[in-house]
Amino acid sequence: MKELILRPHQSHVEGQLREQLRAGVSRIVLVAPTAFGKTETAMFLIKLALQKGSRVWFLVDRVTLVKQTSDRFRAYGIPHGTIQGANATNDRYAPEQAVQIISIQTFERRDLGDPADLIFYDECHSQYAETLSRLEKYSKSKIIGMTATPFAPGMAQFWGGIVNGATVNRLLADHFLTPLKIKACVSPDMQGARRKPGGEYADEEAGQRGITIIGDVVQTWIQQTQKFFGGPAKTIVFSPSIKHGEELCRQFAEAGFNFQQISYLDRGDDVRDEKIDEFRKPDSAIHGLVSCAVLTKGFDVPDVMCGISCRPYRKSFSSHIQEMGRVMRTSPGKDFGLWLDHSGNCISFAQDTAWLFEYGVDSLSDAAKRDAEVREPTEKIKQTLFCADCGMQMEAASFVCRSCGWERPKRGEIQIVQGELIDFAHSIQETFQPRKGLRAECVNDPRAIWNAALSYTSSNSSKGPEFAKKWAMGVWFGIYEGARPPRGFFDGKADPSKVQTDQWSLIEREVQRFRKRSKHNQRRAA
Ligand SMILES: [Zn+2]
Repeated sequence: MKELILRPHQSHVEGQLREQLRAGVSRIVLVAPTAFGKTETAMFLIKLALQKGSRVWFLVDRVTLVKQTSDRFRAYGIPHGTIQGANATNDRYAPEQAVQIISIQTFERRDLGDPADLIFYDECHSQYAETLSRLEKYSKSKIIGMTATPFAPGMAQFWGGIVNGATVNRLLADHFLTPLKIKACVSPDMQGARRKPGGEYADEEAGQRGITIIGDVVQTWIQQTQKFFGGPAKTIVFSPSIKHGEELCRQFAEAGFNFQQISYLDRGDDVRDEKIDEFRKPDSAIHGLVSCAVLTKGFDVPDVMCGISCRPYRKSFSSHIQEMGRVMRTSPGKDFGLWLDHSGNCISFAQDTAWLFEYGVDSLSDAAKRDAEVREPTEKIKQTLFCADCGMQMEAASFVCRSCGWERPKRGEIQIVQGELIDFAHSIQETFQPRKGLRAECVNDPRAIWNAALSYTSSNSSKGPEFAKKWAMGVWFGIYEGARPPRGFFDGKADPSKVQTDQWSLIEREVQRFRKRSKHNQRRAA
């Protein structure tokens, strides 16, 4: 039996969860990236609950995850039963146990009697209406949701509190996640594409348009895996439609590679599980697994080296993050994952991703809007973040592509500074660039700069909070020209106690600069 010892970042979160529960918050979302160890953190709380004689339910999104979760509970010696499908064919059915692992599908259909004292809802961003309406009735239960992407509209209405686990950048720095090398490749033109009622691109439409570039997808994969891994590497493909996936497998087969599609059309879970089991083997006969809307949740094959994104999203930031998460698992000998973007998603969501990876999620009501906003890849973001020659993502401050040596054209009088070399380009510093020529260490933290600006304008103006906010926004956008921070970013109260001296003097300088310029302009106008 394995001993359950929480890592420091998990133990910190476990403490925060208990604190909120004690304070009377009964529905809390634990937000943490893949590889944080949300399940371990939950198991720790379950052990404590068992000591107090409490009953616990652990809800998982699909039947395959019941067994996977049950295996992990077993490994740590947590006695439990499972509830899924027919009891007679379930060899882990044990209704007398205080801990039950339950599939959502069964949870929604079956009367389970008195609700448990403590309920965990894994991957709670899925938001099944029936599940929520059942949970709604359990006014005495404490409910903890777990997700990496709490961006589904409506989450703020159900959940009362939020606890942030470690951020992606923290886990990358601590080597619990593998960095990605991202290449912007040919992607289909989605202009004017048909949309679903919610505003997302229609699957069939995305598939149809995607089919036209499959030849390029195959060629790019052959070249890039050769370049980075010296030959074929274990790959997953995110495909928009069944037809698209079939055509992709066919063209890969023609080129001599074994790509297999798994989809919700598979005859039962068995066929799908067989393919995934084969794919799991270190020397798998399958080069690539093509997923049409099935691999984003709970799929865990750590030695996947390459991801191909073929499903363009117009709104669903969650899907993009969940997909990338599948290639960021650590595995012995894996130094990085290769991400071939044939969808434009890495460009569309570049700023959102940088923000999430650095800061996590502050509030559910702001987060919930992330999946509702429209983004489309723009040439400007592409030029700022990707090499114009080979398409690899590069640090915006860097003038030489690490991958091919291409040099970014120099602009006017700007002094060339070779950027700090890092593998993973999704850092705040790169997507939230200060104005050219503005140098100060503290601009690396746009959130702290906002706090400093608002503190400054609030204490230097007597025209009320609305005015102070507008003024501070002017200052902030003067520093980060063209930046697009997440919604709600400007809504918080200023906390002057957190402002550092260098931040304060930067704001002062910016305000003076602005005054000088407007005087200058006035003179010119006169
Ligand atoms: Zn390059």
